[in-house]
Amino acid sequence: MSINLLDFDAERFATFLAERGEKPFRAKQLMRWIHHFGAADFGVMTDIAKATREKLAAEAVIAPPSLMLEQKSDDGTRKWLLDVGTGNGVEAVFIPEDDRGTLCVSSQVGCALECTFCSTGRQGFNRNLSTAEIIGQLWWANKALGRDPKGDRIVSNVVMMGMGEPLANFDNVVAAMRLMLDDNAYGLSRRRVTLSTSGLVPQMDRLREACPVALAVSLHAPNDALRDEIVPINKKYPLKELMAACQRYLEKAPRDFITFEYVMLDGVNDSFEHAKQLVALVKDVPCKFNLIPFNPFPNSGYGRSKPDAIRRFRDHLIQAGFIVTVRKTRGDDIDAACGQLAGQVKDKTKRTLRLAAEGKTTQTIQITRD
Ligand code: SAH
Ligand code: SF4
Repeated sequence: MSINLLDFDAERFATFLAERGEKPFRAKQLMRWIHHFGAADFGVMTDIAKATREKLAAEAVIAPPSLMLEQKSDDGTRKWLLDVGTGNGVEAVFIPEDDRGTLCVSSQVGCALECTFCSTGRQGFNRNLSTAEIIGQLWWANKALGRDPKGDRIVSNVVMMGMGEPLANFDNVVAAMRLMLDDNAYGLSRRRVTLSTSGLVPQMDRLREACPVALAVSLHAPNDALRDEIVPINKKYPLKELMAACQRYLEKAPRDFITFEYVMLDGVNDSFEHAKQLVALVKDVPCKFNLIPFNPFPNSGYGRSKPDAIRRFRDHLIQAGFIVTVRKTRGDDIDAACGQLAGQVKDKTKRTLRLAAEGKTTQTIQITRD
């Protein structure tokens, strides 16, 4: 199998070129062609000698995942379904806002962590994405969206909040994020790259050392009993450990707060008492809250909290001194909202079979070309 140069961050480029007796500056040239200009063909790299290009082409390719489908929502949200082989697809979503353009990137085909309210989790797990498949999502989005009249890229921010648990695919996610930050690739500031995790404590510590970026933590419950139920990884890393890991992360984080995500599930985690418990839970962690009204999917068994409940919950947090945003639901007409990303996952964990037996399967989301 050929080497795929989209798998390489700067360090791997350096080793690869040194082993072939090439000068270090070639790394910069190649990275710029591939990531600044979206080149997938050595032929266009006219500032590199033809003989060198031929040598490279003999053993390496630049192979982004191929595009299966592109969709546009009425609100400007765009979604790309990318072919990651053997009948599997993953999704990347672009969300335009007044002051920024955010790409939501997937890290795995499915997810093994089984949060009960998440469509990706319900689909089971197939495999980790490669670095090329992760950075390939940004490569494609930049190709499709280009630059604004000032010459700045339309994609200004990345959130690792698509399908999968990014910290469960640590090495490939870190290499892809290093490319996002590299000036010869995407040049994003660490503050504009956010990784969202359900709370893998040891990997949060590793991330702080390897590639500190802004961190969002999917909390969703203010006590262990409820979190054990809806975010089962909590049984392994309970709230006390998670809060301590958040504090440690902040010692090196590019932002001085953690964003706690909290999905609002009707009658499950949205009472006034839950809000009070939450305030007590996070008292030692500088943080902001992002309340996410639950996005329904077929047979989820959950409903979205009532607007009044969301307001009461938010107001309590604000009165306690926190900055709180309630996430606007974007792109739900193309199933691109949080937790609706289903892609095409061939489950290897038998989770879908188990749920089918319990009558709790999700229907495969039909994506049609029109
Ligand atoms: N695995 C990571 C990142 C992907 S999920 C994590 O769990 O943090 C991105 C966010 O969407 C998480 O906060 C997740 O809990 C939330 N989410 C999942 N399903 C959802 C749904 N149906 N409605 C609203 N938010 C959901
Ligand atoms: Fe996985 Fe995140 Fe979904 Fe939980 S919420 S199942 S960790 S993708």
